[in-house]
This record gives sequence, structure tokens and C-alpha cells, in this order.
Amino acid sequence: MRERIVYLDHAATTPLDPQVFEAMRPYFTQQPGNPSSIHQLGRAALQAVDDAREQVALVLGCTRRELVFTGGGSEGANLALKGAAFALREAGRGAHLIVSAIEHHAVIHAAAYLQRCGFTLTHLPVTSTGLVRPDDLRAALRPDTALVSVMYANNELGTVQPLAALGAICREADVIFHTDAVQAPGCLPLDVEALNVDLLSLTAHKFYGPKGVGVLYVRRDTPLLPQINGGGQERRRRAGTENVPGIVGLAAALTRAEAGRSAYTARMTLLRDRLIDGLLARIPQSWLNGDREQRLPTNAHLGFACVEGESVLLLLDQAGICASSGSACTSGALEPSHVLLALGLEPDAANGSVRFTLGYSISEAEVDYVLAVLPPMIERLRAVVPCTT
Ligand SMILES: *Cc1c(COP(=O)(O)O)cnc(C)c1O
Repeated sequence: MRERIVYLDHAATTPLDPQVFEAMRPYFTQQPGNPSSIHQLGRAALQAVDDAREQVALVLGCTRRELVFTGGGSEGANLALKGAAFALREAGRGAHLIVSAIEHHAVIHAAAYLQRCGFTLTHLPVTSTGLVRPDDLRAALRPDTALVSVMYANNELGTVQPLAALGAICREADVIFHTDAVQAPGCLPLDVEALNVDLLSLTAHKFYGPKGVGVLYVRRDTPLLPQINGGGQERRRRAGTENVPGIVGLAAALTRAEAGRSAYTARMTLLRDRLIDGLLARIPQSWLNGDREQRLPTNAHLGFACVEGESVLLLLDQAGICASSGSACTSGALEPSHVLLALGLEPDAANGSVRFTLGYSISEAEVDYVLAVLPPMIERLRAVVPCTT
């Protein structure tokens, strides 16, 4: 193993920013109160949660009342989809749902669950670069459509959707619009008014905050039934004692991500393009997955003909490089990612894909290290199992 790990898997999770950790620290030990308690320690905890809510509201351009702290991105997507869908059906506002074909499993599986509960479901196709066409959304809308969910930026491809245009179509049709914006902070603007969204979910560990805490924006007057029942926390929309240190950390991380967004984007874009262009130039029969222009500054997702992504990952790991593949190992079989298949890639091509996602810790020298070690690895793998196509 190489001494220094080159971590290129920031779309999976990011390390906690030490300054965010410092902001959280007092709420583990010195300030142990429950925000629901009326004594001074309880009031101090409540104040911390209130302050955090205000900071998040500032970044999203919403009011404090429109925010629900959650246990992360999966919980936020589940609360958004199930909470709104059940409430809308109850109100007689339809039982048809639309989600894009390339959503994270949190949305795909929540929508499938709703389908089992009697909702009808449409999966929106995407272009070969992973973009949802506004016209396709318009065509999929029905009189009984209750809710649409399209992610802001895709976690595998980095493709950034024309969210404001999609949101405008939903608004015109009086349909609730949710976006899984988990990959956006630090890279993309988050103003909920400009984005035309009714529901927007985030999770702190994707932007240098702690794991297990997230926030859901719920536009005022959006019908939403709680999915965790219990105490009256979060205006009765999410029961359970608040994760005070986590919420403080989320707010600190989001504020830092937003403040540093343009500098981060500029630096990441340079590194990303160095990696993409360098690999495409050095490795024959390679291609870029996703959209070249409408792309997160942190994402380089490449396909290599005639190799298994998993084999590439193992060799990279031995060289100290942490990346991710376009396949998920389910019950021993390599299942190509539903996202890559939705682009129209053949299963073999999908399985030969590797995702590198950049972050703060990455330097030019580390990108160059990948550029030096990956091409001979691909060559070696292709020599063992010769290319048939
Ligand atoms: C990571 C991720 C999630 C899930 O977030 P968790 O906090 O792990 O539950 C949802 N959507 C996208 C796009 C993600 O990248």
C-alpha cells in the first residue's frame, strides 16, 4: 500500500472539515441538552438548532419554518416523496408520480414503494449524456400527476439538470417538484426560488459535514405527512430528538460550502479537466460518461473498453487510489448501474466504467499520479483478457 491515500471518491462521502468538527464539539459534551427541555441546557441546545436553521435558510433563500432536519439524504428523499405523495393523494390531488430514470436509489426505491402502495409511476428517460429534456417532462405530465422528482446533479455521472426549467413546467401544471440536491452544495447555486423547487433534500456528509444528518426544504403550504411519528419536533414533520451536534455541523459545513463555492468550482474544474483530458489522451478506447458541459466540477467518469471496472478498482486500490465503479455487486453478480444503462450504454461498456470524484484534498500532483499509473493498468488487464470487440 502506498503511504498516502489518494481519495477520489468524494461523491460517496467527504471527510469532515476540521473547522466544522470544532463547531460541533461543544454539543457532544459541554452542551448535552435536549432542545425540548425547558431548563437552561435545553434552551442552549434549542438556540443552537435555531441558529443552525437560520444559517441554512440564508443559504437556501427560504424561511426557517420551511426546513426539516433529517437523518440524511435517503431519509430526506423518502420524507419528500412519501410525505408529499400520501398527503396529495389524501387531498384528492392525484396518484401519479414521475421520477427520472437516473435517480439515486433513495428516490428510485421510495418511488417503487409508492407504486406498491397504489401510485402509478413514470420513469423519465434521459439523453445519452444523462440530461432530462424539459419536453419529455411536459409530455409525461398527466391530469392526475401529483409529484415529480428529478435530481439536481447525478452522483454517478455528475450531470447537472436544467432544474429551473423543469421546476417551471411543474409549477405551471400545479405539480409538486422535489429535487435530490445532495451532490450540489459547494458546486451549484442553491437558491430555492431561482430553482423553482417545492422540496429539496441535502445530506451533510457530501459537503464536508458529518454523516447521518440532512435537511429537507419544504416550501410553505406544500402538503407533507410525517414519515416518522412520535414527538412534535420539526413542526410535527419529523419526530425524534434533534441531532444537535450534527445539525450544528451541517449548518457550518453548508455555510462554508456556499462561501467557497466559486473558488472551489474554479479549482476543481481545472483538476477535473486535467484528469479527463489526460486519461482520454493516454488510454485508447476510452470515453467520458455524462455531459461534458453540464457537469459537476468534481466528477470524472470514464469508460474503458474491454475491462471490468471492478478489476480496475482493485488495481487502483493497491496503488493507494480510492475510486468507484459503475457497477454494484448484488448477490455475487455484477449488475451494471441503472444510471449507465439509462444512457443507452451496453452492459459491458457500463461495467467497464470508473468514477473519480475530486475534493479539497486533491492536488495536481495526485491527478498526475493517476495519469501515470492508470494507463499501464488498463493495458495489463487488456493483455490478460484480450479485447473481442
Ligand atoms: C449520497 C446520496 C444520497 C443518500 O444520502 P445519505 O445521506 O447517504 O442517505 C442521495 N442522493 C444522492 C444523489 C447521493 O449522492
